[in-house]
Amino acid sequence: MSQDWPEGTDEIRFSDATESSGVMVFCEMVQGLPLPVGLELMGPAREMADQLGVSLSAMLVHHDVGDASTELIGLGADEVIIIEDPRLEHYTTLPYTRAISDYITLVHRPEILLMGATTTGRDLAPRIASRIDAGVTADCTKLSVGPFYHRRSKQVITHMLEAHRPSFGETKLACIMSNPESLWAPAMATARPGIFVVPESDSSRTGEVVPFSPEFVDSDFIVEVIEVVRGGGARIELGLNKVVVAGGVPCGQTGFREIHALCEALAEQGVSVDWGASRAAVDAGHAPHSRQVGQTGQSIRPPVYLAVAISGAPQHMAGMQDSARIIAINTDSNCNMVQSADAAIIGDYRNVMPQLTAAVKSGFTFGI
Ligand code: FAD
Repeated sequence: MSQDWPEGTDEIRFSDATESSGVMVFCEMVQGLPLPVGLELMGPAREMADQLGVSLSAMLVHHDVGDASTELIGLGADEVIIIEDPRLEHYTTLPYTRAISDYITLVHRPEILLMGATTTGRDLAPRIASRIDAGVTADCTKLSVGPFYHRRSKQVITHMLEAHRPSFGETKLACIMSNPESLWAPAMATARPGIFVVPESDSSRTGEVVPFSPEFVDSDFIVEVIEVVRGGGARIELGLNKVVVAGGVPCGQTGFREIHALCEALAEQGVSVDWGASRAAVDAGHAPHSRQVGQTGQSIRPPVYLAVAISGAPQHMAGMQDSARIIAINTDSNCNMVQSADAAIIGDYRNVMPQLTAAVKSGFTFGI
């Protein structure tokens, strides 16, 4: 972020002012495996740690972290803090809050703490922030570090977290920095799954594994998990597929039937595929919100994104514009989706979709 300040202005480093150092990523684990969003965050976290010249820690909290620490070291962690306890198998707010905030207050206070904006992350991040007297910027789409000129004290605070996120009805990108009146650390941020790309793993990297035992008290475990039921309303991970076929509001029930038929034909050809929708289609009741693509839905980057009758509003593009190949089917050759696509079929989806499904049944699989 570019800012101006008078020449010769005093500079203080954020980490010195807040007696903190290093970047930390909390990698959420479910059923013995780290969630992809934690691995994705290792990319921007490593970049910021290198820019700051500090170490990158990853934190794992689970009943058994298995091989996850090796994976995180390969992805850029200098150290992995592991907190293992049989009572931490399933997430509940209080013990996880205790585990992480104890480490931060008793052992090491990082200057930046990142976590995924999953259901757990959205619950946990503000709890930790409140416990350690920090603040959180939620749902960031870009993370960087930079200087901030504090006009009242006439000082430049260097190397602060710049947490960028859509704001003002998601029409503007805001850059949110720590409150310079009462500097706190760590500066915390969450990012939604699919925003960043998992960095390439380097199996030759080495790092330290540091076990930590929090000082749990009985009242941390007042909530007991009796049963975990997965599926049903659970999140649909569209981004795990090779092809995503998404429909816009004009598709209606007929169009979404065509989309399902195309998906079935692709699946029969052995292609991993799922279907999504624009927000207008979700609002019209043609698809559940769990399938919405865009700023207020899922952010995905599949090898092929097929947009059927979707105009390409900025809020939709924000969730799929990094797909490797975008193919648009639209009657309007000037709409943003067609203009941004790698290939487009200009025509009525009612004519195009049955022909496309027939082509897939004859072996065409979009090069997958
Ligand atoms: P339209 O914009 O109406 O476009 C329909 C398209 O279909 C047009 O291009 C038209 O040419 C084409 N078409 C019409 N008939 C046919 C036919 N027979 N055959 C082929 N093509 C045809 N939107 C999202 O998608 N995701 C979000 O996460 C999201 N978040 C938002 C957050 C906020 C705060 C706001 C304000 C808006 C958000 N939106 C989001 C809404 C977004 O601005 C658009 O309104 C929405 O994406 C439009 O959906 P659409 O493309 O299906 O409909």
